[in-house]
Amino acid sequence: MTMEHLLELDKKHFIHPTSSIQQQQEKGAKIIVEKGEGIYLTDKNGSVYMDVMSSLWNVNVGHGREELAEAAAEQMKKLAFSSAFSTFSHEPAIKLAEKIASLAPKGLNAVFFTSGGSESNDTAFKLVRHYWRIQDQPNRRKIISLKRGYHGVAAASTSATGIPEFWNMAGQMMTDFHHADTPYENGTDKAIVSLRQLIEAEGPETIAAFIAEPVQGAGGVLIPPSDFFKEVRNVCDEYGILLIADEVITGFGRTGKMFGVENWGVTPDLMSFAKGVTSGYVPLGGVIVSNHIHDVLKEKSKGTLFHGYTYSGHPTAAAVALKNLEIIEKEELVENSRKMGEELLKGFQKLKEEIDIVGNVRTIGLLGAVELVQDPKTNKRFSPDYQVAAKVIEALHQRGVICRAVTYEGTDIICFSPPLIINPSQIDSLLERLKGAIKEVKEGLTTV
Ligand code: PMP
Repeated sequence: MTMEHLLELDKKHFIHPTSSIQQQQEKGAKIIVEKGEGIYLTDKNGSVYMDVMSSLWNVNVGHGREELAEAAAEQMKKLAFSSAFSTFSHEPAIKLAEKIASLAPKGLNAVFFTSGGSESNDTAFKLVRHYWRIQDQPNRRKIISLKRGYHGVAAASTSATGIPEFWNMAGQMMTDFHHADTPYENGTDKAIVSLRQLIEAEGPETIAAFIAEPVQGAGGVLIPPSDFFKEVRNVCDEYGILLIADEVITGFGRTGKMFGVENWGVTPDLMSFAKGVTSGYVPLGGVIVSNHIHDVLKEKSKGTLFHGYTYSGHPTAAAVALKNLEIIEKEELVENSRKMGEELLKGFQKLKEEIDIVGNVRTIGLLGAVELVQDPKTNKRFSPDYQVAAKVIEALHQRGVICRAVTYEGTDIICFSPPLIINPSQIDSLLERLKGAIKEVKEGLTTV
């Protein structure tokens, strides 16, 4: 099909996720991606881009891995799909559950599968409420999450998401969801005070669980202070509240550890995951629960557990996930994530010395951010009218880099989450292009 024809059909028939429908109708799709290879994407016109967001923070092993296509084809030829409902089971899901248990922090060993992150978090919320209900504490229903947290767009996960723009479409959030302050801006102590106040105000005996991302991704790659999660764990233990780690972005090597919580030395009671488990080659997610929760379910969950997706434990998705995890281990991508993340940070710090609109820079493994500010000394932000982040994203695009910005509450944050296979020369090339893009935008600003 020609580009013109594709663009016309796109407008007519394709409602894009998280997009401006108006802009699509006015301008059409900006890029029609055709091919992926390693850290690169090629569009329909033959232009090549570095995919430094790993598409949606998920293509951990990079694009175009034949082994994953072969794993899917092999499994599809044998058994493409079979249900895992009720008493049915199959080898790929059993093996994957065992594999994930072996990678997860000690004490988390049982897995419920879903098709993605939103379903995983909705599942986690239902599981914790069920856990309390079968222990005669049905009032423990409330879920606390962090402002600027992102947990998905299903009914409950939207409500847990702490970015208000996501709530508007539903008209109203589900009840029993509350948001505490992120530690990112004011530090651990103030965030913990806010959490305690919220718990006390709502009544500890009504709270089922606290959920947070080990690093807040969509909120702007907000790396918490190193003591935050330990303090959260203490507060949860004090009030008997379960701790859910949303590892949808941070799982499977993204932060330089297999799971994000390993950076903070805490063990959650549940972990939700998706994205990196298959590197996005096929949809799959899930929730890993602690031995204690599993024991309670085994002992007290009578009759049918009325929760299950058609694709829970999808055999083809499980086979791809197993191969993907094998690649991550065999190619030591968790270690590469840590090492390349350090290189990226050095480059960001150099940029900060060279260009005076670069504010805070940070990485943890291959999850990073560069903030653009009017004055790095005071962290004074640009007026949103300048659209600084959008301009840098466009300048990067012109230089063959696909990247993403967060402009929550007037911030200008450029986010980075490249495939974990990225090498030193590709990091250098990215930094060179980033420098050119920021400089160009800066020069343009003086003439606005
Ligand atoms: N949790 C986190 C931390 C995420 O980043 C995302 C997606 N970006 C989700 C949940 C939702 O996952 P999905 O889009 O697969 O439903």
